[in-house]
Amino acid sequence: LVVLADVNKHFGNLHVLRDINLTISRGEVLVVIGPSGGGKSTLCRAINRLETIDGGTITFDGQPLAAEGKTLAKLRSEVGMVFQSFNLFAHKTILENVTLGPIKVRGIAKAEAERRGMELLERVGIGAQASKYPAQLSGGQQQRVAIARALAMDPKMILFDEPTSALDPEMVQEVLDVMIGLAQEGMTMMVVTHEMGFARRAANRVVFMAEGQIVEENTPEEFFTNARTDRAKDFLSKIL
Ligand code: ATP
Ligand code: MG
Repeated sequence: LVVLADVNKHFGNLHVLRDINLTISRGEVLVVIGPSGGGKSTLCRAINRLETIDGGTITFDGQPLAAEGKTLAKLRSEVGMVFQSFNLFAHKTILENVTLGPIKVRGIAKAEAERRGMELLERVGIGAQASKYPAQLSGGQQQRVAIARALAMDPKMILFDEPTSALDPEMVQEVLDVMIGLAQEGMTMMVVTHEMGFARRAANRVVFMAEGQIVEENTPEEFFTNARTDRAKDFLSKIL
């Protein structure tokens, strides 16, 4: 579904993505792990073109990523994104947050968008909160709204950038459970996270990224118990 070939990215003198070669197949769940500043967020942002690249190519669904225009809008609607900081619209209700994209971008009728929005909110366990505002929800609930909002666009893939790292510990699992459910249903996902439990239960593959490079690709079992590279072993010894 996504193919990155020799992708490079600089911020001034800083070489943040170095010769990244990565393929994400349909239905695959890829976990990206690595030290702070290693380029994980930049990689996510490059895939849905929130960030430009200055070398190499990225193709999505067989098409090279477009710089602008209709193709870019199409890409954005096909690649959902869930961030650490939820990014919900504070002055819109939970249901409005979920229906806005389908109505404005997809041109779906309001009643239909609301029916589908409620279905998705029920699915992530917050149907009862539909008419509340984001600030009235816990962090875990807000993040589940963000996932429902991404799903409302019927994306071909969802990128998650540290979706649980801003949450209180007791709320982490409720969000991970929703993500595990999506993975089991075959959603294509790239997930930046250090949650080993999630990686072991849901990931097909772990990519370890440091200093802008993919240092190791491995199965979750192998990676967490018997990483091949010293760089990964060193990192794991600090976080586990
Ligand atoms: P973290 O685990 O802390 O989220 P990360 O792996 O997601 O880190 P990135 O956010 O991709 O890392 O950042 C990679 C490098 O690029 C960092 O050194 C960061 O400071 C730098 N960087 C990121 N965005 C910008 C920007 N817009 N302008 C300049 N430098 C940037
Ligand atoms: Mg990041």
